[in-house]
Amino acid sequence: MSRFNQPLGGNEMPRFGGPATMMRLPAQQTAEGLDACFVGVPLDTGTSNRPGTRLGPRQIRDESRMLRPFNMATGAAPFERMQVADIGDVPVNTFDLKKSVGIIAEHYRAILGHGTVPLTLGGDHTLTWPVLRAVAERHGPVALIHVDAHADTNEAMFGEEAAHGCPFRRAWEEDLLRNERVVQIGLRGTGYAAGDFDWGRAQGWTVVQAEALWHRSAAPLMDQVRATVGDAPVYLSFDIDSLDPAFAPGTGTAEPGGLSSWQALEIVRGCAGLNLVGCDLVEVSPPYDPTGNTALLAANLLYEMLCVLP
Ligand code: MN
Ligand code: MN
Repeated sequence: MSRFNQPLGGNEMPRFGGPATMMRLPAQQTAEGLDACFVGVPLDTGTSNRPGTRLGPRQIRDESRMLRPFNMATGAAPFERMQVADIGDVPVNTFDLKKSVGIIAEHYRAILGHGTVPLTLGGDHTLTWPVLRAVAERHGPVALIHVDAHADTNEAMFGEEAAHGCPFRRAWEEDLLRNERVVQIGLRGTGYAAGDFDWGRAQGWTVVQAEALWHRSAAPLMDQVRATVGDAPVYLSFDIDSLDPAFAPGTGTAEPGGLSSWQALEIVRGCAGLNLVGCDLVEVSPPYDPTGNTALLAANLLYEMLCVLP
């Protein structure tokens, strides 16, 4: 018997039965005693186009039912070395996004106060702003690996500062980031102005547009990313729309020409060895993918994040 929590095995309870937690792990109310936790943020009131990410955490948990404990590619065995549980969802205020921002920050202060690394099931990308606020309060300004079709550095959307296209602008304003150690990967599509992706570059960020990864492995890029991030505390924010809609159609603001599922795996696996202090997987909108494949991919990427935690 391991001294750590284990996912409920498929030979103990059929995969389609048992608890509807992430990886069918035990549930608990707080992060007390945990090295890492899965936590949901059922938020979609920050979306600008197609909604539905409020249903993301629930479907990601459902599609995580097939995940087994051992990583056959990397050899990682996270449940042999870490205590992990699913601590449920943040009780966002679905009628007031600004209040939700405060609620999320407060919830993550409590998680981080237990010394636990949060792995977040989103939820729209607005949530990363308050999460980074809580993370920086504990660790100081952090390095950032942001994988997304979009820069999410808008000054405002429809005049609002809280929106899924603004989290990294807010984080920058609040000095939550180490600018020379910020990397954005996968940006593409159309913009409001020719220089849209240069705003981050002007702050000292490394911006890698999707085209730079076409037809090639993402592993060499991740060698560079690890050199850029160094030993700084680093947060990984992964927007599922960084993937091509062929792999991840279940999202609100899809853009053609994106990453493949194997490039996404290379990116997360390429974070091994970094001082990760938190990760999120955002923007899964189940109504736009009735097959469940987008959420299945999201569940696997969250598992891969767990595998590379220090
Ligand atoms: Mn985003
Ligand atoms: Mn996006």
